[in-house]
Amino acid sequence: MSPRRREFLYTLAKGAALGISRAAFTQASATLEKLTEKVALIAGAGNNIVALSGESGHLLVDCGDAAHAQDVLSLVGAIKTVINTHWHLESTGANEAMVKAGAKLVSSVDTQLWMTREIIHDWEKRTFPPRANEARPKETFYTTAITTFAGESVEYGVLPFAHTSGDTYVYFTQSNVLAVGDVVQPGRLPMLDWSTNGWIGGMQEAHRTLLRLANDTTRIVPGVGPVMTKADLQASLDTVTKIREHLVKLIKQGMGPKDMIQARAMKDFESQLAGDPDEFIYTAYRGLWAHARELGGIV
Ligand SMILES: [Zn+2]
Repeated sequence: MSPRRREFLYTLAKGAALGISRAAFTQASATLEKLTEKVALIAGAGNNIVALSGESGHLLVDCGDAAHAQDVLSLVGAIKTVINTHWHLESTGANEAMVKAGAKLVSSVDTQLWMTREIIHDWEKRTFPPRANEARPKETFYTTAITTFAGESVEYGVLPFAHTSGDTYVYFTQSNVLAVGDVVQPGRLPMLDWSTNGWIGGMQEAHRTLLRLANDTTRIVPGVGPVMTKADLQASLDTVTKIREHLVKLIKQGMGPKDMIQARAMKDFESQLAGDPDEFIYTAYRGLWAHARELGGIV
């Protein structure tokens, strides 16, 4: 393929990704959609937010980005608790505003620790400074936890390192709604944040954990995109598995990230999955390399 054709296809893929984010960005404000009697999905405020409503206020899974904090507060009113699924600003940027409005922040220990550190995303040339003290969760957990809110059992726990380390699911068992954050990224080449331990093998394991939790009527809410079924989750795992097998095969042939980018290693996936293939290859490779032993000692 000529360099021009390759450039053109990449521009198309980037345009598709931009199209999605632009649509979200131009949304006048966040929207709320009821999933069950007590549980609602708030979209358009950064990453998806799941809200469980009780008489005295709400429990939220993630709270969106900082720019939409007021939108979220006016949509739901009083917020008692926010559980962060991971440290990214699309999901936790509104943490300070939620605390100011009286909420308690809860997260895994790793997610809280990432908020105390400067994090560098070399692939997008971005540096994230440590978060303000008020933005850091004060209640943390190492493995799993359970609480009762609005008469409903809320089970949450840490997943294997996938999108980041500290990735957390939250399961409203009676309403049968499972919030999974960015561990599941339907329709996209998955963003694997290797700078905070994300990698594709962990993403497979995290999918398997979630599949064990879900049943055929569970409504699964990813960080971005519409509500999924268990069958959709299985399809997402199948795609992630195919991508991993493909990348591992290429690494075992001695290819590095530059070789893979040059060879357009993701070309068979680009028509179905949005996202920048070059960025995906680089981040996926860094994460895989950190787990070389688990892949059978690739050197
Ligand atoms: Zn994320």
